[in-house]
Formats: sequence, structure tokens, C-alpha cells
Amino acid sequence: MSDTVTIQHALRTAAEQLRAVSTTARLDAELLLAHTLGWSRAKVVAERDYALTPEQQAIFAALVARRAAHEPVAYLTGHREFFGIDLLVDRRVLIPRPETEVLVEMVLAEARRYGNAPLTIADVGVGSGAIAIALAMHLPHAILYGVDLSASALEVAAANIARYHLQDRLTLLEGDLLEPLPGPVDLIVSNPPYTILNEIEEGVYRYEPHLALDGGPDGLDCYRRLIAAAPAYLKPQGAILLEIGAWQSEAVVRLLHQAMPQAEIGIQRDLAGRERVVWARNRDVIR
Ligand code: GLN
Repeated sequence: MSDTVTIQHALRTAAEQLRAVSTTARLDAELLLAHTLGWSRAKVVAERDYALTPEQQAIFAALVARRAAHEPVAYLTGHREFFGIDLLVDRRVLIPRPETEVLVEMVLAEARRYGNAPLTIADVGVGSGAIAIALAMHLPHAILYGVDLSASALEVAAANIARYHLQDRLTLLEGDLLEPLPGPVDLIVSNPPYTILNEIEEGVYRYEPHLALDGGPDGLDCYRRLIAAAPAYLKPQGAILLEIGAWQSEAVVRLLHQAMPQAEIGIQRDLAGRERVVWARNRDVIR
């Protein structure tokens, strides 16, 4: 006789419990159990006959219950992987989204134009530091600034930057949009708040910082202010690259065209085929 709860059994039960709130119920369960046990997810999946102790069962059950009440997995584990990098996250910052990796790819492609020459990059609304850290790790010649209005978000970013020893090249600045920058930069990068708050998923709305999400009544408030200010903070051949919601490309392209009439402008889709990044690059002025 036994009321032994094996990993296999615990995962199946938890996944069933989470199906109603999550499209990734099984994955969520595996990540929460890995966190409970202090193991890798791979080990959890491999050791399916391991019997959980009563204490492990209780910890896991509590995490699953919180997830069932819509709390995001990343806040429960305190970690999220972005661009292959493990980041500390908690409720002070937006959880990095996989679709934002497209923005990083676009910036890396833009940075290749500079070869080995030094370049400066500003990440506006740096949050957890996800974008800026991914860029810093892939661009050893870059000097970066991460700006945020939220002092508590900057605490999380600082912890992540310290973990990867990037503090010499990646400086955090508290303040509004581009205002805190010491001068013009080569590249402005941003995943600004662009959602219409009453249209977002319940778990996102309930748990993630509204400052990082709320783009105003039409989702475009931040783009208007950021794009209007950008020309004064861009070097002559600089570029601005912005994440957008899929429905916003037309409006954001229009704003960029107004602010930077000479610029070359483009749109990039994400892996799901949705328009996700809009960019504008200053052209050489012909004299
Ligand atoms: N992509 C996020 C979401 O839909 C929003 C991110 C943002 O506003 N910058 O939840």
C-alpha cells in the first residue's frame, strides 16, 4: 500500500489543475516542480518515478494553487529565460516575452553595420534588463544605457546586470524616456508600454506592472512622446527600433515618418507572423 506521490503522478495532477488557466499547463507544472525540488526541468522529466516527500508535495501544491489563480510561472520561480539568458524577475518588472527576442535580433543586425567601431545604445523602459543585457552580451564594443521611470524596476535590472558583470558598459538611469541620457546615441531601442489595459489577459492584468503595459486609450501614448523626442537624441546615422503590438504598425510608422521625414523605415514580423518591430534609420543628408 502507498500514498506515494511520484513525479509522474504529481505532474499529471498539476497539469490537469492548470489546464483551465494556462495553454502551457504541462510545462508550467514541470517548471514549478523543478523549482520546488531545486532541480533542472530535464532532471524532473527524467526522474519520473522519484517519490516526493510530504514537504515537497506541500510546497508544490501551494505553487500550483497560485498558478491556478493566474499568477505567472516566472513570478513563482523568480526566473525567466530570455535570449538564452537566465534573468531574475519579480512583480517589480514585466516578464520578458519570447516575441521580444525579434527586437534583439533586429538591433544586433543593425549593430553589425558598425563593425568593430564602438556604438552607444539606449534601452528605454529597461525593466528587468532583458533587452539591454542580451545586447551587451552579444555586442562587446557597445556602451549601453538602460532608462526606466520605475526605481523598483531598476533594482531588478541592477541585480541582473551585476550577475553578468556588465555594470562597466551598461548604465542604469532613472527618469522619463530619453531625458536622462547624457547625449545622442547610435541606437534607441524600446519595448514601451503599448497595451490597452482593459484588453489584456487576466493573469497579465492582475500581476504584471501596469506602468510597463499601459499605453493609454489607444496604446500609442508612449510612442507619440518617444518618437517626437527621438531625433534630438539620435546621432546622424542613428536608428530607433521599437516593439509594437501587431495592430499598431501603421500608426507607429506614421509617427516615425512625421518625426524623421528623411528616414528609411521598416517593419519586421515575429515568429508567429505578427508585425512586431518597427524601425527607422536616419539617412546621410546629401549636401
Ligand atoms: N507583449 C506584452 C503583452 O501583450 C505587452 C508588452 C508591452 O506593453 N510592451 O502582454
